[in-house]
Amino acid sequence: MSQESSFRSGFVTLVGRPNVGKSTLLNALLKQKVAAVSPRPQTTRRRQLGILTLPQAQMVLMDTPGMHSPRHKLGEFMNAEAADTLGDADAIVWLVDASQPPTPEDEAIAARITALSQPPPVFLTLNKVDTCSAADVELRRGQFAALLPGANLFLISAARGQGQDALLAALVETLPEGPPYYDPDQITDLYERDIAADLVREAALVLLREEVPHGIAVRIDEYTERSENNAYIAATLFVERDSHKGIVIGKGGDMLKQIGSLARQKIEEMSDRKIFLELRVKVDKNWRDNPDALRGFGYST
Ligand code: GDP
Ligand code: MG
Repeated sequence: MSQESSFRSGFVTLVGRPNVGKSTLLNALLKQKVAAVSPRPQTTRRRQLGILTLPQAQMVLMDTPGMHSPRHKLGEFMNAEAADTLGDADAIVWLVDASQPPTPEDEAIAARITALSQPPPVFLTLNKVDTCSAADVELRRGQFAALLPGANLFLISAARGQGQDALLAALVETLPEGPPYYDPDQITDLYERDIAADLVREAALVLLREEVPHGIAVRIDEYTERSENNAYIAATLFVERDSHKGIVIGKGGDMLKQIGSLARQKIEEMSDRKIFLELRVKVDKNWRDNPDALRGFGYST
């Protein structure tokens, strides 16, 4: 058999309400940190792409921002993003938290999938089984399966890497035959910039805790490769209030230094090269409700 005829290639969309472990699963599948993972919900604001190239297949995985009730324009945009990719995918992974019964948000996601005119195969995946007793897993399996009869069922622990190989094998099986969409060598260049912005934001969220909750956006102003293993990145953190600017910068610039140091470390892990990172802080009072600002931050096209 020739390689072309047996190679498979396609798109897989990851959906699920915030905090069920979508980013963790994506990272585990790609075995590299590509999406921000945080104990707080809604860290992943923007659609994340991860491209997994295997000897026999290439899978483009999209981690969508959680579907939740929009409170402002950013929320609306995130919902549109999440809904958008559903019908286009070759497969949908609907990730749920096995440690909790289905919520109204889970029901809404099931309803959206059911409403698709030509739904791709759905892989209903119960995550966090490491936190459940066998009896709980059985209970949840029934409760979630009832929301979407006919879905393929998988049990995993994305955090521990359990069950993901079986899921991956099943996903590869459903992809259509065809050549790869992306040259594996270009992937890093295409997405490193976006990923770097997420990692800076994640570092800020981790270090600032409750002080400047969701009011931060990050823009990468420059991403210059200086050599094969060395890059320069300049980024701006946008905050909503003057008082927040002071908090982000900290006494004598101490907080910003810590954010920069943590982010640099994460970006170096992700890109496997030495990074020089320069951060600035600016106040933009209405970035959440300003369509132009959202476009500038890459939330819209
Ligand atoms: P997302 O909002 O769906 O992208 O969720 P994240 O990937 O950011 O994960 C949310 C939280 O759940 C983080 O604290 C993860 O460490 C945790 N988590 C994810 N997968 C598992 C798992 O399999 N087991 C356990 N115990 N925790 C997990
Ligand atoms: Mg996420």
